[in-house]
Amino acid sequence: MNTDTARYVCPACNAEQDIDTPLWRCPACGSHLNLTDGPGLTPDQIDRDLPSLWRYAAALRVPREAAITMGEGLTPLVERDWGGQPVHFKLDFMAPTGSFKDRGTTVLMSYLKWKGVTAILEDSSGNAGASMAAYTAAAGMDCRILVPASAPAGKLVQMRAAGADVVPVPGTRQEVSDAAFAEAESRFYASHNWQPFFLEGTKTAAYEMWEQLGFRAPDNVVMPAGGGSNVIGCHIGFRELLARGQIDRLPRIFAVQAAACAPVCASFDAGTDDPIEVPVTPSAADGIAIAKPVHLREMLDAVRATNGACVSVGEDEIVAALKGLVRSGLFVEPTSATAAAAVTRLVADGRIGRGETTALILTGSGLKATAKVGHLLGLET
Ligand SMILES: [Zn+2]
Repeated sequence: MNTDTARYVCPACNAEQDIDTPLWRCPACGSHLNLTDGPGLTPDQIDRDLPSLWRYAAALRVPREAAITMGEGLTPLVERDWGGQPVHFKLDFMAPTGSFKDRGTTVLMSYLKWKGVTAILEDSSGNAGASMAAYTAAAGMDCRILVPASAPAGKLVQMRAAGADVVPVPGTRQEVSDAAFAEAESRFYASHNWQPFFLEGTKTAAYEMWEQLGFRAPDNVVMPAGGGSNVIGCHIGFRELLARGQIDRLPRIFAVQAAACAPVCASFDAGTDDPIEVPVTPSAADGIAIAKPVHLREMLDAVRATNGACVSVGEDEIVAALKGLVRSGLFVEPTSATAAAAVTRLVADGRIGRGETTALILTGSGLKATAKVGHLLGLET
């Protein structure tokens, strides 16, 4: 564990806070907070007898003894042909609740319980809420999740089954968040979009790919991007490895959005750090349909600092990629297919070259979205 130097840092006003008191936003100005970078890791610091992401506890700012864990992480990295190009598929849907969110949740919930928090508030209608519900159940913590009243009932079963108090809120997704802000006065707001210890967990995907590739970084990492926890987590993890002298350059990070909701790509294409209002239409990739991401600037920094790009893909491309994935045995949810669609595009236009090592993160299980997959692929009977 390395908690000695960890601090909350505000990207807006530069205020710093100790991590002893859990915070979800800057007390001075209300911005989201980041954590100072961690110490990184050397191969001999990995606890190789531990088959979960807690094998990297030496690099995490939560002690191993405080871990609330269900064996998450250490997901397979499987090499397959994708359109004539070898691609390393990171099967992050192989997680206790069926999505990569468990990486962030195990570390965030362990931190909160370690610091004495016993009841949390979250707002989500999807994988993050399901993950929070499961880990609070495992920890014996109380969990209240605000969801849009319009959320499909099926998505809420996983949360309710774990015992979470699931509260429908009328109105838009933004109105759900506003309701959460109001309740945050009386209950700790453990939002996966705000609390930076979530990113402390998602950064372990970078460590894993580094270990699984024989302690080297891939040339490219391609992943879906909504709130940005994977994109930013990967950037942090590889940045820490670089600073520790374990890799000699950062992989290019490609953040993939559906064209139907692509605010990060809009700012990236315009060459600005500022948010740009974008039109939003329905998409098969509902898991990344976030019009106003809290961590927009950190996502843009991850892409720009690594010489990567933000790629937006159309609905036809997403469905074609989904078909290709499930036909190869990788039964993922439609949101994950955006990354594969992007690799097709990046190889076709030469931005990913022959002989490069490309990792593609598959974020969510298709078992959570069988009706939707069936509908998109025309498999309904
Ligand atoms: Zn501030």
